[in-house]
Amino acid sequence: MNYEAGKYDVVVIGAGHAGCEAALASARMGCSTLLVTLSVENIALMPCNPSIGGPAKAQLVREIDALGGEMGINIDKANIQIRLINTGKGPAVQSLRAQADKHEYGREMIKTILGQKGLHLLMAEVEEIETVDEKVNAIVTRTGARYQCQNVVITTGTYLKGRIIAGEVMYDGGPGNQFPAVKLADSLRAMGIRLGRFKTGTPPRVDRKSVNFSKTIEMPGDIQPWRFSYISPQPVREQLSCWLTHSTPETHRIVMDNIERAPLFTGVIKGKGPRYCPSFEDKVVRFAHKSSHQLFIEPEGRDTDEMYIQGLNTSLPEDVQVQVLHSIPGMEEVRMIRTGYAIEYDYVIPSQAKLSLESKMVEGLFTAGQINGTSGYEEAAAQGLIAGINAALKVQAREPFILKRSEAYIGVMIDDLITKESDEPYRLLTSRAEYRLLLRQDNADLRLTEKGRQIGLVDDFRWAIFTEKKKSLAEGTHLLHKTTFTPADKDVDKYLTSKEGAPLRDKTSLWEMLRRTEVKIEDYLNQGWLPPFQPEILEQMEIQAKYEGYINKQQEQVQRFERMESKRIPEDIDYNQVYSLSNESVQRLNEIRPQSLGHASRIAGVSPADINILLIYLAKRRN
Ligand SMILES: Cc1cc2nc3c(=O)[nH]c(=O)nc-3n(C[C@H](O)[C@H](O)[C@H](O)COP(=O)(O)OP(=O)(O)OC[C@H]3O[C@@H](n4cnc5c(N)ncnc54)[C@H](O)[C@@H]3O)c2cc1C
Repeated sequence: MNYEAGKYDVVVIGAGHAGCEAALASARMGCSTLLVTLSVENIALMPCNPSIGGPAKAQLVREIDALGGEMGINIDKANIQIRLINTGKGPAVQSLRAQADKHEYGREMIKTILGQKGLHLLMAEVEEIETVDEKVNAIVTRTGARYQCQNVVITTGTYLKGRIIAGEVMYDGGPGNQFPAVKLADSLRAMGIRLGRFKTGTPPRVDRKSVNFSKTIEMPGDIQPWRFSYISPQPVREQLSCWLTHSTPETHRIVMDNIERAPLFTGVIKGKGPRYCPSFEDKVVRFAHKSSHQLFIEPEGRDTDEMYIQGLNTSLPEDVQVQVLHSIPGMEEVRMIRTGYAIEYDYVIPSQAKLSLESKMVEGLFTAGQINGTSGYEEAAAQGLIAGINAALKVQAREPFILKRSEAYIGVMIDDLITKESDEPYRLLTSRAEYRLLLRQDNADLRLTEKGRQIGLVDDFRWAIFTEKKKSLAEGTHLLHKTTFTPADKDVDKYLTSKEGAPLRDKTSLWEMLRRTEVKIEDYLNQGWLPPFQPEILEQMEIQAKYEGYINKQQEQVQRFERMESKRIPEDIDYNQVYSLSNESVQRLNEIRPQSLGHASRIAGVSPADINILLIYLAKRRN
């Protein structure tokens, strides 16, 4: 028997990385919000690698932060090590990566959720989403509670019909021995939503006390106190080390001797896994010529001896996993705490959603995170934020919030998900962004904070920090342009000679001189040519000056691209009526229902000729 338990503007199902962002965004935008999750103990759980950031993912975290999301603030509270990676490369691909204390990460997120006005937390399993006339009407839990709502954000990660596999052992389950969500998958199917099946995996965890670190290489964090969030206080936490080791020919022999017991190769695992994060056995088979693979031993937290073995994700039988571990330098006598496993799960084929992440079929139904076929905490959190924002905007009868590919990695990811078919879990990579020099992790606030303020998610505190930064940046930039030197200036001549740079030939501003590779902005401070500024202002000015030419070129490309993007396609278009479109195009366009010509041009199977036909059709229709 169901009972009427309450009414909310927005219900978010799942309190993983997507669900937490969605629920916080919706409540912060003033909507009454219910966050329902299977286990309150496992909020914002990291079932795999306890780390946040890295290439493209760090950019996502900064973008989430700039818009008023939580992930950056939370990892600043709960990290045990933070490093800037790719420092030898340009600013477009530099990224922060933090090791998380995974328990503290969850605890801090629970505190934020419970402290959020307008947000209620409920531990329950949602079994059904009720609809009326293809619109969301209510959700129903396993214990019979019925909550009325017009907007639901589903963020159920890998739990839908989850199945755990390690060698010959298989059982229905969610990550970390939790129980799976079975009926909700059936409820979605009953609504006509198409589901697919993917898999992912995790490595064994070992006891720190049993590792012989003398056979490994220590990897300390950076001395520089990095932080993800633009509004976190300066970090003062002690950094913990990670350690580097590697597999051996003996490790690979053990894998190959047991390959007929590997579910990945026996056909037991049917779901496709992420190509960019292959299991260890997959690596051994695919790269048979390699006698060794790097493995990182990473602490799971400050108060635990559990260590994560990055690079060793596997679904080999448990006895083989133990042998594999014992063949690795430093782990000859290691004790395993948790067995590695693979998990297969249902996901919603993401092309069924609009760019707002609302379903095209069921009004008020949003999906975000791993349920949309992605992989990764950051990808999940970013989608959760957008789905939560759009659910709230819908309640407020406002236009959806959509980020363009030229504005944010979030825009690239969602556009890819909706537009491109993928037969493996989607992971964001810097190579997926065509304007990556514009979409840097250092300028996410300059790109997005004003947008976050407009939608009502950036609070006064963040706004004050942002406006102060913009003011300071404008002052510094003005000074760099205004201060000029001539070839007769002895100080400059001496400085350039000390840098082995050519002397000035004409009157040159500090800004122009900064374009030279040998010239560094911190030298300007030492020379007394520039008054002190915050390090991030100096960094910003230096990047903008050094890469100005490339940045301007990308901006021109964006303008060309925007002309196509601004050509909207009416929602009611019937592609069957567009004479001479190819059959494949008609099918794909009907399925994706692109919102602009630019969007249509990125759909696989839609040719430039089809785009021209559409252009002519739309012009005729307008006339
Ligand atoms: C074993 C494993 C290995 C992984 N390996 C990697 C990796 O190597 N690299 C990587 O980037 N990512 C990896 N991931 C993926 C990463 O964990 C996810 O991408 C990320 O956690 C997804 O976030 P999410 O918010 O979408 O879902 P999750 O974090 O999974 O959260 C789902 C939430 O939904 C709740 N829920 C589910 N069903 C219901 C229901 N019916 N009613 C109420 N609540 C419900 C759950 O309780 C949970 O809170 C791995 C995941 C797993 C499980």
